[in-house]
Amino acid sequence: GFKCGIVGLPNVGKSTLFNALTQTAAAQAANYPFCTIEPNVGDVAVPEPRLEKLAGIAGSANIIPARMSFVDIAGLVKGASQGEGLGNQFLANIREVDAVVYVLRCFVDDDVTHVAGKVDPLADFETVETELMLADMESLEKRRANVEKKAKSGDKDAKAQVALIDLALDKLREGQPARFAEVPEDQRREWRMLQLLTSKPVLFIANVDEESAATGNEMSRAVEKRAAEEGAVCVTISAKIEAELALLDADERAEYLESLGLAEPGLNRLIHAGYRLLDLQTYFTAGPKEARAWTIRKGWKAPRAAGVIHGDFEKGFIRAETIAFDDYVALNGEAGAREAGKLRQEGKEYVVQDGDVLLFKFNV
Ligand code: GDP
Repeated sequence: GFKCGIVGLPNVGKSTLFNALTQTAAAQAANYPFCTIEPNVGDVAVPEPRLEKLAGIAGSANIIPARMSFVDIAGLVKGASQGEGLGNQFLANIREVDAVVYVLRCFVDDDVTHVAGKVDPLADFETVETELMLADMESLEKRRANVEKKAKSGDKDAKAQVALIDLALDKLREGQPARFAEVPEDQRREWRMLQLLTSKPVLFIANVDEESAATGNEMSRAVEKRAAEEGAVCVTISAKIEAELALLDADERAEYLESLGLAEPGLNRLIHAGYRLLDLQTYFTAGPKEARAWTIRKGWKAPRAAGVIHGDFEKGFIRAETIAFDDYVALNGEAGAREAGKLRQEGKEYVVQDGDVLLFKFNV
């Protein structure tokens, strides 16, 4: 599955947000740095209104949404890349995620200590990102000597790797994250294999006070501007309100949202932003037993998409019986779609489209 890592300085609202995400009020947010020492992984259902529609038509007994994982990564402090604070564990955890979510404190509350002594989300962002850049630099410099030795003895892969390492190091030495480097299309895979912390796509969360949940505030606007400058997505959220929303039932939640002037929970916006960031899309399977949403990357071909359900589906892939979501709905399900000639037989080269309703045929 796809994983987003939540990072930020201590006391910016990461745990509050994470708890809201996973609806576990149990792991209580506490008002002191380092309260989140163990990385926590939470699976979140991806809100998908089409799924219910599909289940209704297919008469499915169960609805199973797609899931996205969020990892609450232990608090980072200045100097973490030098092994101070929770550095090493932090770095190990963040290497595993597909995207990095920066939680930035945009609320003032004298009862909540700020590690730097004042609330300044952009300065906080610089602090965290600088640590990640330093960590990348250090790990690349360590690796470079070794890889270069191999390259000198004629290893072609190693040669290409040295070039990529230098590409990253050049960026980092300019004080810029590795994601700003221009990587040749045919080397993206090798680039990803370098596992750099600052080459992952990023998403900003401006965590605002309760009063600013619907409107944002001056600080969140500064964060939005900063995000826009690098073409990144920014979601303005009040973690505290999200935590409250998570404890309400559907009716109460709708009422509370309305009173706040919000169209939907911030967490929905966050999850959808994560989808966009990671270039994800959904396909469906539907039958009497269950209607289910599956997450894939845009551009994946049918066999790879099938592999998300089971490895055997990919290995033994024969074809995918395919109905576009709109056709499925308009023709009232599989039988109607088949009759109308809207059920397509798609082969190995078919690029799955968002909302496709698929039935895989495969050899065992
Ligand atoms: P973490 O260290 O980044 O995980 O931060 P926590 O989630 O533990 O939050 C630290 C403190 O800030 C807690 O006392 C939270 O209740 C408080 N807090 C988090 N988000 C907000 C917010 O949006 N508004 C206010 N006023 N307080 C918040």
